[in-house]
Amino acid sequence: MDIEQFRKAGYQAIDRICDYYYSLEQRPVVSQVQPGYLREALPENAPEKGEDFQFIADDYQKLIVPGMSPWQHPSFFAFFPTAGTFESMLGDLYSSSIPTPGFNVIPASTELEAVVMDWGAKLFGLDSRFLNSSEIGGGVIQTSASDSALVAVVAARARYIRDHPGVKQEDLILYTTTQTHSLGLKAGIVLGLTCRALEVLLDDQFALRGSTLQDALEEDKKRGKHPFIIIATIGTTSSGAVDRLNEIGEVVKTYPSLWIHVDAAWAGVTLACPEFREIAMLDSINKYADSFCTNFHKWGLVNFDASGMWVKDRKHLTNALDITPEFLRSKHGDAGTVIDYRNWHLGLGRRFRSLKLWFVLRSYGVEGFQKYIRSTIQLNDYFVKLVRSSPTFHLVTQPSFALTVFRLVPASSASTDTTALNTLNESFYSRISARQDIWLTQTKINGVFCIRFAVGAARTTKEHIDKAWKLLNEEAEIALADWVV
Ligand code: PLP
Repeated sequence: MDIEQFRKAGYQAIDRICDYYYSLEQRPVVSQVQPGYLREALPENAPEKGEDFQFIADDYQKLIVPGMSPWQHPSFFAFFPTAGTFESMLGDLYSSSIPTPGFNVIPASTELEAVVMDWGAKLFGLDSRFLNSSEIGGGVIQTSASDSALVAVVAARARYIRDHPGVKQEDLILYTTTQTHSLGLKAGIVLGLTCRALEVLLDDQFALRGSTLQDALEEDKKRGKHPFIIIATIGTTSSGAVDRLNEIGEVVKTYPSLWIHVDAAWAGVTLACPEFREIAMLDSINKYADSFCTNFHKWGLVNFDASGMWVKDRKHLTNALDITPEFLRSKHGDAGTVIDYRNWHLGLGRRFRSLKLWFVLRSYGVEGFQKYIRSTIQLNDYFVKLVRSSPTFHLVTQPSFALTVFRLVPASSASTDTTALNTLNESFYSRISARQDIWLTQTKINGVFCIRFAVGAARTTKEHIDKAWKLLNEEAEIALADWVV
């Protein structure tokens, strides 16, 4: 493809993307293709001779688009939202127009990342120790919250072993809770570490309490074990629980070697709004956390991928991850006068992700960012009101930010037996999930089957919540009629 062919194909691509967004609401929220459909549709080998790009672009429309479930659909209430803004898309396009592995210390991509991660830290009210400009701490864009957690565990382990020479790897313990995202256990598996999931209770809205951590620490110490990191969550995936970071921080005062990593992959962006800072524990994050993560690519208006990770002391990352063979040495790197992000994560090469973050933060501004977060939380508040007004729908946990966890508990039913109610809710959920026009996800908390409703897609309005409520009621009526206790 030459430059003029690229220009033509590029114009067509943008036209088609615009048409796709105009037609989004008429499309199924959940793709209707069956697994394996592409293998049947595509040849077994790459073509011997190159093909005309127009055929390829047409096949993309015909074969690929229908197989992609649009998370940007206004009736998408599943998982957590993943942002998709045109500003961010253009950032991705421009960044791939200058393809570089981006690890050198003086390209614009490194400098821009250092600047926009400071913008992000200030947007969220993070302490100045988390700023790149502090030259001690700083922020880096990782691929995912799972990578951020893995890097935090690697850094925490290196710090712990440095301070406790001779400790055996098999005696190290990584703490999570039963509600932590799989990233905790995964980090344990990848690094060959024991992961201990601490119990959390419904009475505490599934938040980790300081006393539980204290008991675990004492117990493990007696067993000769070495807990070295706790991954606390602000906004768990199942129910949006917020671990009591204030209590955790106080306990850790007497165990200063314990690293606190805060996974706020979803809810961290609410810190942009001063009114949510108390509930999202900003003071405790600033006071106690060694590292903090929130995903711009979830609820933060930036297209996948862009996971923001901030640390109070960057040397713990570089102590653990700086391996500099001769061919990677540079004048500025040797002098230590610049950020060398290759030592802040696992890979060497890095995508130019700060560009899309820069585009989004400039286009929306702090006000636009706050407005978006507030509007989605208000829509969820509206949904919560509808649930509360219903005799059959019940909240399982307190609503959290823009997430509601609910289930059916019929008022007329004599049975509140968990198994019977689980059966009812499973059949209710299987009816909802068979539909093309809405998408919610299920979860199970302490044996209770429930349904999650997460607001966050940028095109969702009150009308979409009303529509969702109407069809949830229709499906509930059928599930209840079919329910045999
Ligand atoms: N942490 C929480 C609380 C999440 O809800 C999720 C995903 O939904 C993750 C971590 C994982 O995020 P990632 O896909 O960026 O690893």
